[in-house]
Amino acid sequence: MPESVVTLFESLVGAEPPHDVPVLFDTACVMGGSIAGLLAARVLSDRARQVVIVEPDDTSAEAESRSGVPQDQQVHTLLPAGRLWIERWLPGVSQEAQDRGASLVGPDKQFVGYDDIRQAPDGLDHQFLAVGRPLLETLVRARVTALPNVSVLWAQATGLRYGDGAVVGVRFAGPGNGDQGERAEGDLAADFVVDAMGRSSRLSNWLRQDGYDQPRLERLESPVNYATALFERPVKFPELEVATALQLFTPQYPSGGVSVAAANAIEEQQWLVMLMGYGDSRPGRTIDEFRAHCAALPAIFSDITRGGVTREVVTYRQADSRRRHFAEAGRLPARLVSVGDAVASFNPIYGQGMSSAALHASCLASYLDSSTDLDTAATEFFRLQQVVVDAAWAVSAGGDAARIDAENGTEVPEEVRQQRRVMEQIAGAALVDADVSRAFNNVSYMLRHPGTLFDPELLEKAAATSEGAAAK
Ligand SMILES: Cc1cc2nc3c(=O)[nH]c(=O)nc-3n(C[C@H](O)[C@H](O)[C@H](O)COP(=O)(O)OP(=O)(O)OC[C@H]3O[C@@H](n4cnc5c(N)ncnc54)[C@H](O)[C@@H]3O)c2cc1C
Repeated sequence: MPESVVTLFESLVGAEPPHDVPVLFDTACVMGGSIAGLLAARVLSDRARQVVIVEPDDTSAEAESRSGVPQDQQVHTLLPAGRLWIERWLPGVSQEAQDRGASLVGPDKQFVGYDDIRQAPDGLDHQFLAVGRPLLETLVRARVTALPNVSVLWAQATGLRYGDGAVVGVRFAGPGNGDQGERAEGDLAADFVVDAMGRSSRLSNWLRQDGYDQPRLERLESPVNYATALFERPVKFPELEVATALQLFTPQYPSGGVSVAAANAIEEQQWLVMLMGYGDSRPGRTIDEFRAHCAALPAIFSDITRGGVTREVVTYRQADSRRRHFAEAGRLPARLVSVGDAVASFNPIYGQGMSSAALHASCLASYLDSSTDLDTAATEFFRLQQVVVDAAWAVSAGGDAARIDAENGTEVPEEVRQQRRVMEQIAGAALVDADVSRAFNNVSYMLRHPGTLFDPELLEKAAATSEGAAAK
């Protein structure tokens, strides 16, 4: 892993939002008003006279699930890195979430169990935000749309308009500006456009139809089945706010069907509890099935799901992890970028999506503040963003590919086999050794680049620890 990529990643992670940046645009348009789009709009609000977010869902309701984000009823944990970055752009959001009943969870209130072993404490003060996804989005939206130059156009983006090799406008159709029922079609002139339309974004198709390069789509088929339910959280659990149980070295917990379970103490004194299975393993549709699975997990999950049910089981299936290689595309229009799940959406179990979106916002700020020519394609932005996507992809898709190959008995090149063996040693050693656990968690929580795991001292320690465990 080249040192420069690690350094670049770390500089993005450490970057503070710049002050007093010049206004570059008259109108910037963000297509998609979810987490990635809202954070991009926050960045653009410093650099455009006005920012218009085009969003087809009516987002006026507080903290409610909506059809444009079909995954929003599932567990969403904001990783320590994502929380820090969102805070940098929108200071105070975590406190506001806590004031609304969400939990900011430090190591003292976490249970992390791998293969029934409780992970060694890493000595770091990592904090997760345990909050319902709709509430988090509401809080982020309230702050972004309170900015005087940001507005929301209630409409669906339907295509782009171009002039002189650059995007110059966004076509839209929809209710328009808040008048329910009345459909409007139109064209918004914009001198910078962001695609934040999520994993089903149509941008690639539009580009192909409009004579530009369609970014290569890479897919890793790794179906995941989520089931999430809500339970009352009796006050008798003050000592625990996040519980995670993962099968690391064997495919499933004994009940069959569940490979990962997570419980987050969220607003309204509730436990948001998720069970996940790979492939054809479905973790249940009814509360009885859900509780039966929990009985085979570490005991804490039976305790957590004993309370009254405040929302029945909601399921969600995602067929693949996918990324679009914009940095490779030869011919793209200028003044156009893509962020969030529209560029890469991972196996959600790694919890990387919102943190990645926050870091894409930092890439956007860095690109806009350093670019000398906005009238050519935003290749520099996509290269910078690729560093972030590669880092997240290496962790989640890398782990999935190893699992799938092992399940199918696929022959892999010796170099890949060796890399995977090393990763297994690190993951195994992280269960018992605080130094390895710290390095491993920093990468899993997206605070550091995966390249930092290939430190010779750390590798030696991981190898010695796993040899020691094997000898017992
Ligand atoms: C089951 C599951 C669990 C997850 N758990 C976690 C987790 O624990 N932690 C984490 O960080 N991430 C998690 N994620 C990922 C997370 O949901 C996303 O990364 C996050 O929502 C940011 O995505 P986004 O804003 O790019 O896209 P989305 O949230 O998918 O939003 C896309 C937006 O685009 C809008 N849109 C669509 N079409 C158009 C159009 N034509 N014009 C204009 N707007 C349009 C939609 O209405 C929507 O508002 C999970 C994902 C899944 C599927």
